[in-house]
Amino acid sequence: MNLHEYQAKELFARYGLPVLPGQVAQTPEEARDVAAALGGTVVVKAQVLVGGRGKAGGVKLAHTPEEAFEKARDILALTIKGLPVRRVLVTQAADIARELYLSILLDRSRKLPLVMLSAEGGVDIEEVARTAPEKIVKWPVPLDGPRPYQARALFKPLLKDGKLVQQAADILLKLWRVWSDGDCQLAEINPLAITPEGKVLALDAKVSLDDNARFRHPEWDEFTGLEKLDPREREAAERGLQYVGLEGDVGLIANGAGLAMATCDIVHEVGGKPANFLDIGGGASAQVMASALEVINNDPSVKSIFINIFGGITKGEEVANGIVQALEQVDISSPIVIRLDGTNAEQGREILKAHESDRLVSKPTMLEAARTAVELAKVNS
Ligand code: GDP
Ligand code: MN
Repeated sequence: MNLHEYQAKELFARYGLPVLPGQVAQTPEEARDVAAALGGTVVVKAQVLVGGRGKAGGVKLAHTPEEAFEKARDILALTIKGLPVRRVLVTQAADIARELYLSILLDRSRKLPLVMLSAEGGVDIEEVARTAPEKIVKWPVPLDGPRPYQARALFKPLLKDGKLVQQAADILLKLWRVWSDGDCQLAEINPLAITPEGKVLALDAKVSLDDNARFRHPEWDEFTGLEKLDPREREAAERGLQYVGLEGDVGLIANGAGLAMATCDIVHEVGGKPANFLDIGGGASAQVMASALEVINNDPSVKSIFINIFGGITKGEEVANGIVQALEQVDISSPIVIRLDGTNAEQGREILKAHESDRLVSKPTMLEAARTAVELAKVNS
């Protein structure tokens, strides 16, 4: 999960990182009020989950509250890299003497966290990596984190001045806490700015959280609260299902991401449109199947449901029993087409046979099942 800058800065502030005060605004009026409350020059910044907002006109200085109103109005009208700007961050402005880049991420090939530092901050790091890779310092960090002396040694060649080195080292140690306690995939400060008075500040913040660690971070809910997740996707996420909402009318349930994708393809192939991608994973217990059916059943655009299961470790009769039990738990409004194959498929189909009707059809192949599901969706719409 990627955080907006204002959320990442809230997180940074909790760990004592030097971010300037600011507040998010949804209207030009709110932006003006925040600017008035902050006093002095502010920066108005588009809150969209892409980099390069500055270049796209999404970061503007404003010297008065009135100017903040105008800049916010302009920025809120922008679409940056396809994303409409819905909120702006209005924050105190800093004077900048130098811009550095600092981040911690996971280096999967080394299987270690990696600190990246560059004197060429402010611009896209991808650009620096392409044109002048030697300007990026990469330091694989021991798993228990950087020592203060190591942090100082890292910045020494770049900053020279003892006071700056001390501040920057302190920032790295705090960023490490954000990254490791916070289960981040990425924690990035770009620019890490040095002011003419010799202060080191985090003027931008980019954080990507590792969704696999979500179970131990109930506090992350506040970050998603604001996001406009597709309501179907939110419901599925709450039930632990791998679900992506799509535009069509054939609801899909498959086990395994590969089969789920192939199921989307074949529905298209026979002239239909999937309403979703849904991978229920390895097991196909009654509980999981019931959850999946509920999510799909709650989607008003679904006109038929295609359950495509290839039994592997999970045996056909268990899958069939799971489906039958799930149907007892959930009242399904669309007709269901099932294709069950793989381990013990025969026994599974036998169990389903007893429950077949015009609302529940079993087909031996994926192609036939897809055709039937698409036809039923057409008849029902
Ligand atoms: P990004 O383009 O999406 O990475 O957005 P940033 O937050 O990094 O802002 C882009 C650029 O705007 C920075 O590199 C700075 O040059 C400039 N900028 C951001 N904040 C301030 C500020 O407080 N004062 C000044 N003078 N410039 C700023
Ligand atoms: Mn930036």
